[in-house]
Amino acid sequence: MRKRNLSLLVLAALILFATAANANQPKYVFFFLGDGMSSTQIQAAEAYLTTVNGGKATVAEDLLKPENRLNMSKMPVAGMQTTYDSFALMTDSASAGTAFACGIKTKSSVIGMDGDLSKSYKSIAQLAREQGRKVGIITSVSLDHATPASYYASVTNRGLMNSIATQMAATGYEFFGGGGLVAPLAPARSGDTANDVWSLLAANGYEVRNTRESIVDLKNNPRDKVVCINPTIDGSKAMPYAIDKPADNLSLAEMTEVAISNLYSRRGGKGFFIMVEGGKIDWACHANDAMATIGDTLDFDNAVGVALKFLEKHPRETLIVVTGDHETGGMSIGHATTAYTAYYDRLLGQKNSYQHFGENQWPAHKAANAAADCSSPNTLESSTEMLALMENAFGLKWADLNAYQKEKLEDAYDKSLCDSNNNSVPENTYLYGGYEPIIVTITHILNERASIGWTTYSHTGVPVPVFAQGRDADKFSGFYDNTDIAKKLAKLMGIRKTLPVEKD
Ligand SMILES: [Zn+2]
Repeated sequence: MRKRNLSLLVLAALILFATAANANQPKYVFFFLGDGMSSTQIQAAEAYLTTVNGGKATVAEDLLKPENRLNMSKMPVAGMQTTYDSFALMTDSASAGTAFACGIKTKSSVIGMDGDLSKSYKSIAQLAREQGRKVGIITSVSLDHATPASYYASVTNRGLMNSIATQMAATGYEFFGGGGLVAPLAPARSGDTANDVWSLLAANGYEVRNTRESIVDLKNNPRDKVVCINPTIDGSKAMPYAIDKPADNLSLAEMTEVAISNLYSRRGGKGFFIMVEGGKIDWACHANDAMATIGDTLDFDNAVGVALKFLEKHPRETLIVVTGDHETGGMSIGHATTAYTAYYDRLLGQKNSYQHFGENQWPAHKAANAAADCSSPNTLESSTEMLALMENAFGLKWADLNAYQKEKLEDAYDKSLCDSNNNSVPENTYLYGGYEPIIVTITHILNERASIGWTTYSHTGVPVPVFAQGRDADKFSGFYDNTDIAKKLAKLMGIRKTLPVEKD
């Protein structure tokens, strides 16, 4: 009898200990990742907000007003992380995603594996799920893209997207939301698998939803395992840019709300880990389009706002961490043509993204003007139709431009319309970076006139800020490496194994 009492006591003590251990961890963990977002993208978005809200981007008191600040930059804890990978100062999203998810440095293009491609590693999402947390993965690009894939897949190359999606279907994660799948039925490239991922998802108990109504319905009627694909997806299976979003489309914030309702359990449970990626901040920066960049940065920050509302209700159990994986575009606050002044009001005339213009107004104009006289040095200046398009779609008025800006636009127009101008091939490569010459030149000039410069069409190696709020947020202050973020999160979530953890 006494022996039995003793073992009951031990049992009670063990239960108490286990409860206490759980109470010491953030139960609900959000990791927000703005792809291509560093301090420049954040400051540009705040200067834009200030302007839209009636203030001036050149007046400190206006910039400092709370309504002109992003949710992320108002968080009480900030840090800074180095982003280089094992191969270069400029990481790509695969090696950066692997750093955040697995806590290891690897080469560009590699996901969930080391640089020798010999070992595969578990992500913190997988480890969190093994300890009973629910997992949600959200992105504005395709669900098999490098950043989301880092949280569930191990592949030698990010282009093996059928293989990535096959691994996604086997995760058991409760929620996937955002864009679609690039190669759900066939190899994306040589060396890839050829599985029917839709069948695999169904066989593993996933429901796939792709209408606004059915996705929003999950807030009231959660499902065990669901894949939510935005009603409109572009040619790369990504959600549209926020600036182009059709009315029936979900924002990243709405997708985050749906994920929370679907993963949060009133009956207790072991909490969740949710990763939210603003994936197209990066794409807009590659294309050097500041307004598309700002639009997606704001959309991403609104999703952070949704997590903050959840934190208000669960202050002692929630941790929110926000960062970017690298900077893209070499975006600058300031330009040679504007020096110490900024004119963000000049951005307000842009109605849609470079991509929207490139898929709508530009091809129609080009088709109608294919027989234009390409030998004239002032083809653009004499095209009232194109000048009207520039003014209506971008707010760029020909009469406001200086001779240097007009020359650049004339060269680009000749290249786009007639496929020739007087520039050398290397000059054209540098000027247009593979984008439609006239469109990238329009955004360059529009952005420069506002005081935003671009130096590359690729990623840059500047360190990226980290913001944190909630339980244990203070652990994210300081200057550290991107791999430390995975290690900090794993430790805080009570993952007992030390990262990196090899896959079985
Ligand atoms: Zn990129």
